[in-house]
Amino acid sequence: MRYYSIHQPEKKVGFSQAVEDSLAPDGSLYVPEVLPKHLVSWQENYAQFAYDLLQGFLVDDPLLHSYLPICEQAFNFPVVLKKMSQQLSFLELFHGPTASFKDFGARHLAQISRCMSHDKERLIMVATSGDTGSAVAAAFHQVPHVRVVIMYPHQMVSKRQAHQLACWGDNILTLAVEGDFDDCQRLLKTALNKHRHDERFALTTANSINIGRLLPQVAYFAYASLLHTQGGHDRMHVIVPSGNVGNATAAYWAREMGYPLGDIVLAQNENHTVVDYLQAGKYEKRATRSTIANAMDVGDPSNFARLRHLYPDFATFQSKVKADWLTDVQIKAAIQDAYMQTQAPICPHTAAAYGLLQKLDRKHWVVVATAHPAKFESVVEPLLDTHVPLPAMMKQQLSRPEVFLKIPATMSALMGVVDQWLMGVVEN
Ligand SMILES: *Cc1c(COP(=O)(O)O)cnc(C)c1O
Repeated sequence: MRYYSIHQPEKKVGFSQAVEDSLAPDGSLYVPEVLPKHLVSWQENYAQFAYDLLQGFLVDDPLLHSYLPICEQAFNFPVVLKKMSQQLSFLELFHGPTASFKDFGARHLAQISRCMSHDKERLIMVATSGDTGSAVAAAFHQVPHVRVVIMYPHQMVSKRQAHQLACWGDNILTLAVEGDFDDCQRLLKTALNKHRHDERFALTTANSINIGRLLPQVAYFAYASLLHTQGGHDRMHVIVPSGNVGNATAAYWAREMGYPLGDIVLAQNENHTVVDYLQAGKYEKRATRSTIANAMDVGDPSNFARLRHLYPDFATFQSKVKADWLTDVQIKAAIQDAYMQTQAPICPHTAAAYGLLQKLDRKHWVVVATAHPAKFESVVEPLLDTHVPLPAMMKQQLSRPEVFLKIPATMSALMGVVDQWLMGVVEN
């Protein structure tokens, strides 16, 4: 299996190279040459299922030999599909160590990284709107020969998210950037381009522009759709809370591979770039607005390029891709409504998807629950007037001290602290 950059389809690389590069040398994103068409059947052991499916993306790659243990180590927590009523199920993707779906991709990358040989120390840089950073930090914490730099928009993540980002130390450096997520993403892309050939380290990223982050997400959509149809449904119609549009892209890929997914609806917040594209036929990136569903605060989603590449012609795109959005006020109402209807507290991102139900046709919908509500207790608890218990792993993380540095959103500030940290001048 080969991968090519969207801008230069004639330049192909293998899986390992695509993971190593993150961003293709021309600055665009890698996509697989074809989607494997061999359908695998459902089995309860998720790690084994994911291996069976994902190995189709690693054909001919040297990593294939170590790929079963990679999947077993990475996916050591469950994918939970919960039927709530005749009309609704939740696909809970938050049972990993940092309580969001980002754990799947981050742990997958970390295990891959352990199996690759490197001649230089690796520096992994991550821009995060909230959950990616902690998932990557947890996955790479104390991994030898790897250092991680996390950039997040200062004061734009929840208190608990911030704590989860800053509780690591050792080989993890956490930076609160004075700007928004798009600033962080811009710094990341610039750093990747400028320091591609740095003699001190091999720079890469664990953002969802990295194909190694995205692919494992295909596996849980396939797994859930097969499980759902075993429960007597024809196909799984799913609503995906979307920001950088990686998760939704993975769902569309799973459907193109032939897994029984029906409608796939992107739920956005006030950063509704995809909804606007569907209406106008023209892509216009926007400045990020901050909302209570902060992991979806992305004005210029990177993975949109992959989605458009999948359906390049606008009429096809319009017929295949559905999207809608909610305001913060509507998201809050959805959190309350879901609690009344199902007794389940849900996070604001999940609520952005749940809240779309009343706008969609009446059939059984699967709402993707992307994070545990306890990550957003300051939003959720007052609305529901109830305490949301913390998952055990999060409790542990929140009991550790927080260490981070605040920097302006400039390349000189970023590379300044990174250089000092590498030299051991800056303590983290
Ligand atoms: C990252 C994230 C999203 C958005 O996912 P994308 O793949 O970036 O579209 C939604 N909800 C939560 C909780 C997230 O952490």
